[in-house]
Amino acid sequence: MKNISLNIDGKNIKTVERKTVLNVARENGIYIPTLCYHPRTKQAGKCRICVVEVKGLPGLRVSCSLEAKDGMEVLTNTGRIIETRKMIVELYLSSGRHNCISCEGSGTCELQDAAYHLGIEKSSFPNMTKDIPIDTSSPMIIRDMNKCIQCYRCIAGCNDIAVNEVLDMGFRSSRMTVVCDTNKPMGKSSCVICGECVQLCPTGALTERKSATKGRDWETGKIKTTCPYCGVGCQMYLHVRDNEIIKVTGAEDTAPNYGSLCIKGRFGYDFVHSHERLRSPLLRKNGEFAEVSWEDALDFTAKKLLEIKKNHGPESIVGIGCARTTNENNYVMMKFMRAVIGTNNVDHCART
Ligand code: SF4
Ligand code: SF4
Ligand code: SF4
Repeated sequence: MKNISLNIDGKNIKTVERKTVLNVARENGIYIPTLCYHPRTKQAGKCRICVVEVKGLPGLRVSCSLEAKDGMEVLTNTGRIIETRKMIVELYLSSGRHNCISCEGSGTCELQDAAYHLGIEKSSFPNMTKDIPIDTSSPMIIRDMNKCIQCYRCIAGCNDIAVNEVLDMGFRSSRMTVVCDTNKPMGKSSCVICGECVQLCPTGALTERKSATKGRDWETGKIKTTCPYCGVGCQMYLHVRDNEIIKVTGAEDTAPNYGSLCIKGRFGYDFVHSHERLRSPLLRKNGEFAEVSWEDALDFTAKKLLEIKKNHGPESIVGIGCARTTNENNYVMMKFMRAVIGTNNVDHCART
């Protein structure tokens, strides 16, 4: 790609062509607020809060969809730009029910951040709240369209990333809102509860039901780990408060999933703290299961396997590998069956 140089806020920057002004600015530590832009959804130009001035071009330009060109001179912070951004954010605030005090999005909300950085305490426009009923029909997701800023990120995430094609923008004019299928409640729609839309939403319009009131973002530690459910190995963050997992989000900077997760990875973390979880081996004694040590359980299993092999031959034993464990563990199991037991009866739970 061809090298280019441009000037942003007096700073001479060398970069390559085919990048947006927004990306070049961010790569060089220059703050431009955004609401609809997200690196994963590849769509933008909806909120227009990222406007900049470009010498020689009329009006304000939207930096998220403006290609950086050689010799460009860009300003990101003039009085005209700040006034325009303030007006946009104030319009958003007046057209929704933005009760930050109790909103689950508070602390991670990009609208709240923009208002803070622009010094907006309240909107100067009259309140135009629509009072849309909150959709609580999904077992995992709460949809409060009163907090939606119509950024289209959830729609792009559902249709282009998760490819579930549930969400779209419905209705016209002031009634315009995100709909599931043909305006069904989310819980009655074709939503597969992957949570892609929740992760991408910049406000508190889409939030996770189970995490509600469990803790603010700044009160949780984030631990990067690998999803335990299957061999894909999706990377995720556990949001932990007081040693309890209260939420899981996909790690956006890492392969193989780049932020996406399935329903199990994103929402199936209850088992970690479940009282019903087995924490030690069980052996049946007098018809009832009883907890035993690992040494006793392994001794018992070895004795039984030797008995079966002696009385019925190695072909009467089969080993089933597990999709949730590591390749190394599966290899050891396979080796044990072939070399120790003496059978090729080896299979895998995911091979159905
Ligand atoms: S969505 Fe954002 S701005 Fe609106 S109430 Fe929640 S935190 Fe506040
Ligand atoms: S949870 Fe997944 S399938 Fe359901 S609406 Fe959101 S992105 Fe689409
Ligand atoms: S629900 Fe969230 S992600 Fe979807 S359009 Fe509204 S603000 Fe954007």
